[in-house]
Amino acid sequence: MDREYDCIVIGAGNGGLVAALDLVKRGRKVLVLEKNKKPGGVATSFVRGRFEFEASLHALCDYGTEASPGEVYKLFEKLGVLDKMDFVTVPEAFHVYSMNENVHYKLPFGIVEFIEQMEEYVHGSYDSLKKFFFLAEECKEALFYIEENKDYIDANYVKKNFPDFLKVSSHTVDKVLDSLKMPKKAQNILTTYWSYLGSPASKLSFVHYASMFFSYIAKGAQIPYKKSHQISLVLAEEIEKLGGKIKYFSSVKEILFKDKKIAGVLLHNGEIYEAKHIISNVSPNSIYGRMLPQPIVPKEAIQLTNSRILGARGFSIYLGLNQSAKDLGLDDYSYFIYENLDSDKEYQNQSSIKNSSSVVYVLNNAIPSASPKGTTIVEFKSLFMGDVFSKSITEKNYFDMKSKIAENMIDAFERTTGIVIKPYIEEIEIATPVTYARYGGYPDGVIYGYKATGMDNLLPRMVGMDHENFIPNLRFCGGFGVKMSGYHASYLSGDLAARLTLKDMKGEEE
Ligand SMILES: Cc1cc2nc3c(=O)[nH]c(=O)nc-3n(C[C@H](O)[C@H](O)[C@H](O)COP(=O)(O)OP(=O)(O)OC[C@H]3O[C@@H](n4cnc5c(N)ncnc54)[C@H](O)[C@@H]3O)c2cc1C
Repeated sequence: MDREYDCIVIGAGNGGLVAALDLVKRGRKVLVLEKNKKPGGVATSFVRGRFEFEASLHALCDYGTEASPGEVYKLFEKLGVLDKMDFVTVPEAFHVYSMNENVHYKLPFGIVEFIEQMEEYVHGSYDSLKKFFFLAEECKEALFYIEENKDYIDANYVKKNFPDFLKVSSHTVDKVLDSLKMPKKAQNILTTYWSYLGSPASKLSFVHYASMFFSYIAKGAQIPYKKSHQISLVLAEEIEKLGGKIKYFSSVKEILFKDKKIAGVLLHNGEIYEAKHIISNVSPNSIYGRMLPQPIVPKEAIQLTNSRILGARGFSIYLGLNQSAKDLGLDDYSYFIYENLDSDKEYQNQSSIKNSSSVVYVLNNAIPSASPKGTTIVEFKSLFMGDVFSKSITEKNYFDMKSKIAENMIDAFERTTGIVIKPYIEEIEIATPVTYARYGGYPDGVIYGYKATGMDNLLPRMVGMDHENFIPNLRFCGGFGVKMSGYHASYLSGDLAARLTLKDMKGEEE
């Protein structure tokens, strides 16, 4: 196998695969090094008994449809992989329950449909919601302009075209929704997706949440017919078909330097591969903390990485049930089971080890053939904020603890929805922050990158991304990158990292 490459990509997760394919398509010689035995990172599936479980993807944002393509759709089209995958749109935006308030609200996709349904639930919310979606669309367009023109952002153009974006750009979600005079109950329902960004509405950047939520409601959410591993396999096959190399079971130990310039990588098995450019799909915590010779790491890189707060830690329960969804009365695709609809109170709840909130997905309600006839796949996704999980477990109590937490979550789901599932469990698998730390190399089992909080959110990270380029020819992509976490963000970040790396390469060539 060749030892010399134009670029080495560390990690074959969503961001790494897109970055590699982008570069290979532009004629660059690329090597992807992946520590696990298959591509995708957590974009994968696994089999227990007669069930193939989706490891992570329940809603891909910003994909859209042929008639209304989102950014991910356009990216896959550009990469030439669109016709190799089949997607379905998930049936509803969300069905959120509050255990404490004993209420629940089911919301559809489509901006008009969403606003009309909300008005039925919260009379008098119509006008403020309309204003919210106008403003959210402007924020999304402004972010797009900033990314495309980051080398020269024309302040006059921004002032003229995105005046309201400028007014709200430094404010939190709750401040802006208050200023729109949105009733508190409508605010609570609208911010259901706060936990994905790791901060409650009082700390979360409006621009970030609003632009993400706008794409989600306007374009709906999709999932691949054959689960997320289909996307990972298609991307990996395309890289190899075009001459790129992917080496599995290849854990990178260290990034190597020659004359203070990037020279390649050393694997844990002692192999060395050379390249002047590296794209890391692995977090800055791991790169700056473990994979670089310490004298090389600029103190600004350490300061910035230490100042970022790790986001939510993941806890999942994967259930194979021996009855159909219809027979069990599982009518919806996504059940958000929260203790509180108020995100500040719910944040406190999710910061406790007693947290029994979860988001429950019934895979067969989006893909009827997701499991054998007469069975159902139900996946619980829960989060722990801060380091409460790692502080509560020991080597001795780990297995008891994870079973107890899982049981609490299943009980809470049954109690809240009135739907009984426990007697029908044929297969069960539980993944904790420890599982995610081991499988994906995520610090402390964090599955949603760094928190978006206060002034450290998507907008300043994107505007300031060149200042985060601490080591020449080392670029980052993936859920810990500037575009932040989620499938859509990590795919798009791979594209961004490839474009920046090409610019670096061309700069050297000139
Ligand atoms: C349970 C769960 C549910 C989720 N649900 C959704 C959802 O519905 N919608 C959504 O948008 N997002 C969801 N997410 C988040 C989403 O999965 C992530 O944001 C996204 O997959 C991150 O992609 P990434 O590019 O950062 O790659 P990662 O998945 O982080 O992959 C990194 C890769 O690097 C490899 N690696 C690590 N260390 C090394 C090393 N030293 N050498 C070589 N390789 C290494 C890892 O093995 C891995 O393959 C979910 C995540 C989880 C865990």
